[in-house]
Amino acid sequence: MASYTAPLREINFVLNDVLKVGRLAETLPAFADATPEVFTEMIETAAKFCEKELFPLSAPGDAQGCTRHPDGSVTLPDGFKEAFHKYAANGYVGLPNTTEYGGLGLPYTMAKVVEEMACSANVGFALFPGLTTGCFEAILANGNEEQKNTYLPKLGAGEWAGTMCLTEPQAGSDLGAVKTKATPQADGTFKLDGSKIFITGGEHDCTPNIVHFVLARVDGAPAGVKGLSTFVVSKFTLNADGSPTTARNGVTCSSIEHKMGIHGSCTCVINFDGAVGTMIGKPGEGIMNMFVMMNLARILVGVQGLGLCELATQNAIRYALDRKQGKTFNGQPTIADHPDVRRMLLTMKAVTEGARVLAYETGMYVDLAHHHEDAAVREEANDWVELNTPLVKGYCTDMAVDLGSMAIQVYGGHGFIREHGVEQILRDSKILCLYEGTNGIQAMDLVRRKLFLSEGRAVTRFFALVGKAATDASPDFAFISEPLKKALSDLEFATRWIHETFKSKPEEASFGCCDYLRAFSLVYLGYNWLRMAQAAAAQGDENFKAAKLNTARFFASKLLTQVTPLCETVKSGAGEFMSLPAAQLAA
Ligand SMILES: Cc1cc2nc3c(=O)[nH]c(=O)nc-3n(C[C@H](O)[C@H](O)[C@H](O)COP(=O)(O)OP(=O)(O)OC[C@H]3O[C@@H](n4cnc5c(N)ncnc54)[C@H](O)[C@@H]3O)c2cc1C
Repeated sequence: MASYTAPLREINFVLNDVLKVGRLAETLPAFADATPEVFTEMIETAAKFCEKELFPLSAPGDAQGCTRHPDGSVTLPDGFKEAFHKYAANGYVGLPNTTEYGGLGLPYTMAKVVEEMACSANVGFALFPGLTTGCFEAILANGNEEQKNTYLPKLGAGEWAGTMCLTEPQAGSDLGAVKTKATPQADGTFKLDGSKIFITGGEHDCTPNIVHFVLARVDGAPAGVKGLSTFVVSKFTLNADGSPTTARNGVTCSSIEHKMGIHGSCTCVINFDGAVGTMIGKPGEGIMNMFVMMNLARILVGVQGLGLCELATQNAIRYALDRKQGKTFNGQPTIADHPDVRRMLLTMKAVTEGARVLAYETGMYVDLAHHHEDAAVREEANDWVELNTPLVKGYCTDMAVDLGSMAIQVYGGHGFIREHGVEQILRDSKILCLYEGTNGIQAMDLVRRKLFLSEGRAVTRFFALVGKAATDASPDFAFISEPLKKALSDLEFATRWIHETFKSKPEEASFGCCDYLRAFSLVYLGYNWLRMAQAAAAQGDENFKAAKLNTARFFASKLLTQVTPLCETVKSGAGEFMSLPAAQLAA
């Protein structure tokens, strides 16, 4: 059986010793009460909830899955409904949401920590509150007062659940192809007709109502993304006071998907047949409105990846420290002393701990971008959020798959057997690389948009910051600052090459975009490991210090060094590989 213990020591180290989370309470009046002590208390309570309430539902939920009944209703695995109510009652659904609409008004950073633990414990479950928060954010950003008053208090408190209805069979990555039609009515509402696929939480019995955030095209609007608008559609029609009636709106679930993983989450085909909805924001601004939700949702998906990296890592280490097999070179009894197993365990630790700093720091930038009083600080923080989002989403989720696979490798054949519980991590992780924009789309976002943002301001700032940290580091940390300087220099060259090549030969510059995202992420993690090594050196706990410095050395010599060959691959472009007619691939 897999197990889960929230890594509180590690979380507190990252928040307090590396990122100095106390800065939020000191500099943001909105979070004056969110002191490090409040963080610790909230996180410890949430950790117990995730360990004791969510994790025990994960494997049974995976085995049982969701059920669609002949009347179109859907039930979740046993215990999920009750867990959702408790999760909401504890305030975790609305943790970062404004108190004006039922939230706790706490930092987004704190929400990311709680979400990491919830995703480690039960990622299938964690999708429901995640989408509910996303729906809340979309309505908060662009809804009118009536829409906000009707939906936000319910979504913010987790009394109702939310969805994101974008995808259609012909419109996956290319949302400009969305066909769902919205016909204006005399009373200002719209009737929606169309079919959406792959809708997470599209139908279930967890909450008495579901709020759908829908991308659709007003009758007669232009083709492509410019013709898209966003709508809010309630599962049940609403009374004048906003309470749900017992009458269904024209929204039904015609089937649920049978999937590779996240079996506890229902993935629905949702049909809109004259469903009454109201427009969120202005006509034609649908893609912009959707990105309010999507950008934060991408960070959340990255945090889902981080949660699974942690789960894979801690189970692999626990198993390896117990499993005895063969003679090790150093005479120690367990497989953790076989060099190849040690390599895997250190890789898992180095990736997970480094990725945690990336994810939480991005959360802190979101808080600064939303709440700092100085516009210049908000602007800079916003640049960081823009730059970091594809890294958090792309890197943490790719790593969840890699580490899920590595955990099985550490377990050997036992990892392939269901009862050990680690094969579920691999099955649950793959979807993270696909939804909220595939990781290929994340890499294109980095190369096409983020590098060029405000004339490259964000990326230039990143290079300067990392360069200064490496140059200022004392000789005690040369083991990482020197390889970091080399990796940074290679990344800067590759970035310049992309800048110079993209305009005239976009295909050439795009071919290695996933390698570039990986190289960029590794440099960011190098910067994180430098800061972690420096913070660890000041710790009184000798065991913790030694482990941290050892992992930092491993990252510096075995993972950071991958940046150079990755950058070489990026700069070699597409060469002749795009000139081959695609049909010949099947020859
Ligand atoms: C379990 C599950 C849950 C989901 N939940 C939701 C949900 O709640 N709401 C919702 O609206 N959708 C949801 N989705 C849909 C998901 O967001 C899409 O599957 C995803 O956007 C990819 O679209 P696609 O599957 O059509 O793949 P495609 O768009 O066909 O992509 C196929 C491949 O082509 C690549 N590609 C496509 N276009 C480009 C491009 N321009 N540049 C470079 N590469 C490109 C992709 O990276 C990918 O490798 C869910 C999907 C699943 C499987």
